[in-house]
Amino acid sequence: MKDCIFCKIVSGSAPAQVLFRDAQVTAFRDIHPVAPTHVLIVPNQHISSVNEVTPSDEPLLGHLFTVARQVAEQENLTAEGYRLIVNTGRNAGQVVFHLHLHLIGGQRMRHSMG
Ligand code: 5GP
Ligand code: ZN
Repeated sequence: MKDCIFCKIVSGSAPAQVLFRDAQVTAFRDIHPVAPTHVLIVPNQHISSVNEVTPSDEPLLGHLFTVARQVAEQENLTAEGYRLIVNTGRNAGQVVFHLHLHLIGGQRMRHSMG
């Protein structure tokens, strides 16, 4: 998708600290981390948000979580725990409209939810 920063990171035409890449999913460090570990895990194909998800995306979205688990292990977060967040739309504060999982850890979270 032209002009989508995460599509550019997936294709390698924009720089990022990529931790994992395969045919379906790319994981890279957030440019403005909110915790010691803050990784974004994205489908390589452009899906704008959860609002655009369809049943045919289910294997891909399942794989997104498997990669999240692998990255959490690599970052030594498994024992202490971590948070996975998907912002959808304006009220959630979504700013990049390419579906992504935030993997956040390395500290005790200050907020519960909301
Ligand atoms: P959202 O609010 O859409 O869920 O979060 C988007 C996230 O993408 C933010 O945490 C922001 O810091 C991150 N981000 C925005 N632009 C870039 C970029 O060019 N590179 C990287 N690595 N992260 C970005
Ligand atoms: Zn995109």
